Amino acid sequence: MVGLGRLGGMDTDVLIAGAGPVGLFLAGELALAGCSVVVLEKAECAESPLKVLPFGIRGLSSSTVEALERRGLFEALQLHKRMRNPFGDGASTQAGHFAGIPFHYGDIDRAQWPFRLSGATPVHALAEMAELEAMLEQRALSLGVVIRRGLALECVEQDADAVLVRAGGQSFAAPWLVGCDGARSAVRKQCGFAFEGTEPEFTGYTVKVEFADPALLPPGRNVTRAGMYFQSQPGYVAMQDFDGGAFHHSGAPLTLEHVQQVLRRLSGTEVTLTALHVATTWTDRARQVTQYRHGRVLLAGDAAHIHSPLGGQGLNLGIGDAMNLGWKLAATIHGQAPHGLLDTYHAERHPVGAQVLDWSRAQVMLMKPEALPLHAIFRDLMKTRDAATYVAGRVWGVQTRYDLGDPHPLVGRSVPDFEFEDEMTLATLLRDGQGLLLDLGADVTLPGVRHVAASVKNTLGLSALLIRPDGIVAWVADGAPDCSSLHQAAVRWFKV
Ligand SMILES: Cc1cc2nc3c(=O)[nH]c(=O)nc-3n(C[C@H](O)[C@H](O)[C@H](O)COP(=O)(O)OP(=O)(O)OC[C@H]3O[C@@H](n4cnc5c(N)ncnc54)[C@H](O)[C@@H]3O)c2cc1C
Repeated sequence: MVGLGRLGGMDTDVLIAGAGPVGLFLAGELALAGCSVVVLEKAECAESPLKVLPFGIRGLSSSTVEALERRGLFEALQLHKRMRNPFGDGASTQAGHFAGIPFHYGDIDRAQWPFRLSGATPVHALAEMAELEAMLEQRALSLGVVIRRGLALECVEQDADAVLVRAGGQSFAAPWLVGCDGARSAVRKQCGFAFEGTEPEFTGYTVKVEFADPALLPPGRNVTRAGMYFQSQPGYVAMQDFDGGAFHHSGAPLTLEHVQQVLRRLSGTEVTLTALHVATTWTDRARQVTQYRHGRVLLAGDAAHIHSPLGGQGLNLGIGDAMNLGWKLAATIHGQAPHGLLDTYHAERHPVGAQVLDWSRAQVMLMKPEALPLHAIFRDLMKTRDAATYVAGRVWGVQTRYDLGDPHPLVGRSVPDFEFEDEMTLATLLRDGQGLLLDLGADVTLPGVRHVAASVKNTLGLSALLIRPDGIVAWVADGAPDCSSLHQAAVRWFKV
């Protein structure tokens, strides 16, 4: 290793750059599996007005709710208990949107999701970024993770044995580095990850303002011939201005006059701003790294993929990365990983990320001013059960499935939340981050893998399931188990 120079031994098993939600969740996963972790975070303090309500609101998909539930964390979050849906409750209320086009609870046909059992964990929930990060930080600290704030990663080098990092003028060495340092990831740039995709169509604005005449600007989401604006609460406005991302990339100051001019153009009103309190811009640039791993350096979350926040999927994608990576990296560190396990991280997560990027691109295309006629057609389609169910399934991550090479439709999906005859729940069984063989009457065992015999109310016709530590089904039996296929699946995921 050149340049930075090796200072001696390793500081920790894993260095994580970035204490955002993805870095913190991953740190907890690794620590739960017995790894030592040091998180290096650029910001001196975690607080930001963009992390608290209303700007800090985040929609959690079913996979994120399940991930949190399976680690005993979902219950600790409070916002979803107070606020189920900002649009209200009931069949006729809005459940989400695609390109600003709402879909409603009453139009969603849950029978089309045969592996989601009624009474299971919520299919989606709301969270506040500040609350989520604080809870994940608390969990990480309680598991022994060291979080070093005010240290921006500046430089990375790696050789066959280690990664050496320079952050805030200090050096750190570890066998592994994971870049969870967000959209402008220094890890990604330092390590030469190829980051490919499409350029932006618009500049997005998130602002908190005061109006001279608040009645002039209609509330809610409004798609117009000039772009889109969304007033969630009086004075809290998001806008999309189709300028090809020019303003965001210009570096020009974000002044009250500029925000007023854009808002007037988008809304077709003569609205006048008297104060600008919070203002930030973003774009729909959509890029993804071509490889999630470069030797001893891996990426997760926004560091690996960026796209517009339309439909709220970035956080969910990142938590999904961390849930997938944590147990695989931990097994690799402990010498317990079957051959090639760590490389399945890229193989499984890259296609999921690519789908989300295309989902956000499709929304942008439909929101462009010239697509307004198409927008009207989609608005009609969204009132049909099939369209609403399809879109809800994509937005809430219900349809996510990894291709594990087994044609059974449940293999590669999240395990159904079976209702046990006793007090046990699957989430409790998965809390320690270990996989298991769930025996629903097949009378099958697997040396080296925890065996849980259980009686559940609805087996979905299954007699046994092999479940990975991330809650993904690796093998199932519908009737008499095929022990040789069970063994094949087991050696792929576990050290058996
Ligand atoms: C307006 C808006 C609304 C959104 N709504 C939703 C939603 O409803 N649902 C959803 O799923 N997603 C949503 N998202 C996206 C979501 O917020 C992000 O995808 C998510 O925060 C990514 O988490 P992360 O941990 O990967 O990155 P970040 O949250 O960006 O965290 C990265 C961390 O790394 C730190 N860092 C940066 N550089 C360095 C460095 N050099 N060294 C050390 N540390 C560094 C940063 O300070 C930060 O703490 C929204 C985004 C926006 C902008």
